[in-house]
Amino acid sequence: MPAKPLKSVKNPRKTPVMTTTTVEVITTGATPTSDLEETDPKVLQEIIHKQQQEIQKLQHALEAKVAEKATDLEEAQALTHLGSWQWDVATGRISWSDELYRIYGLKPQDHEVGFEEFMSMIHPADRARVSNVIGASSQTGEPFDFEHRIILPNKKERVLHGMGKVITDAKGQPLRMLGTSQDITEANRLERAKDEFISLVSHQLRTPLTIIRLYGNMLTDGIAGPLDKKQRWYVNKITNASVRLIKLVGDILNISRLELNRIKIEVKPTDANKLIQSYLEELAPIANGKGVTIRFSPQANLGLSPIDATIFGEIVHNLAGNAVRYCHDQDGEVSISFKKEKRGYLLTVKDNGIGIPKAAQTHIFERFYRAGNASNADGEGTGLGLYLVKLFTETAGGKTWFKSEPGKGTIFYVLFPPDGMAAKAE
Ligand code: ADP
Repeated sequence: MPAKPLKSVKNPRKTPVMTTTTVEVITTGATPTSDLEETDPKVLQEIIHKQQQEIQKLQHALEAKVAEKATDLEEAQALTHLGSWQWDVATGRISWSDELYRIYGLKPQDHEVGFEEFMSMIHPADRARVSNVIGASSQTGEPFDFEHRIILPNKKERVLHGMGKVITDAKGQPLRMLGTSQDITEANRLERAKDEFISLVSHQLRTPLTIIRLYGNMLTDGIAGPLDKKQRWYVNKITNASVRLIKLVGDILNISRLELNRIKIEVKPTDANKLIQSYLEELAPIANGKGVTIRFSPQANLGLSPIDATIFGEIVHNLAGNAVRYCHDQDGEVSISFKKEKRGYLLTVKDNGIGIPKAAQTHIFERFYRAGNASNADGEGTGLGLYLVKLFTETAGGKTWFKSEPGKGTIFYVLFPPDGMAAKAE
């Protein structure tokens, strides 16, 4: 694919410099004439001399300004641990900013770092990926944005966030490639510490919340004696709130585990039809309460599917739960299917509910995102379910997508490769 043509770049320096010079010479008294041949050569020389002096003055001012800007840029780069580089395609020259040398543990401008030396400093496990990302970007002209690790001369490991793009001529031919690398080792460490904290807190919250729900259920079951109408109403409020909290805390715990890369995927031959049926039975009271019909037609002779039952359960729970919640009361219909096809194992969850507004469709897999019509239909969502579905699916080697018509309904798809979910150690 040809790269995008360059936008025309104005050179803001040349034109104003010459214009200002000419105006100043004229106003300092030298008489301009339309016929220079008639002018005394001495006067002419004086005009030229004055012009040269003016140009020189402006050049010095310009150089000082450029030097000042360069210092500002260097300081900004040092402050943010962000270095920059440029690769000139025609000459093959690569230039690095001082901060980029420092990030790689090298003395600024000590020597020109060639591509091979650069690759030797990339963490061995990330080398092929770095080479592929940069190579693909130089071929396609698409910008790149990714993270990778490097090994410093003192053997310490750092994590960098690299971004870059190709600059092309009007015909789309690459002229140069430029990019930035930011040292995000410390930011990543803090992010990890935050995730660890969230994971710990969620884990600790689960036990007391489960106890609240358990004792609430025992009270409603009459274990501590019969409840009157008012008491039952209060206890129901408590247990319902605890159920919501348990789900929220469970989602947060799962997200932090996934983000910390601490999710184990145990793939075993599993009766997926039986699993789906048992999840749908759990959902039945809510669906019945709303007047929503759930249909599931298991694929005959599906046999056992290579999946992780817990992860599959989380995906089905979230998608089927949403389908029921976002259906209209009374005439709602939800259909679920799970099939083995040539392209892999495909789960579909279809509803005839409120649909997803067009403007919201690019955002619904984002963390905490909720479309306006969903908030109106159900004020208690968290915007974590689909984010979790996407994380689980992708971590297990699958992909997820949807089709939706606002006001008419939505269908979600989750596809795992023909050999099932990808196993993963914790
Ligand atoms: P929650 O449902 O708790 O808000 P989710 O992450 O599960 O959070 O979903 C994110 C958003 O995606 C929802 O708020 C809603 O706007 C939209 N959405 C998800 N599933 C459906 C569906 N079946 N029908 C309509 N909108 C949906």
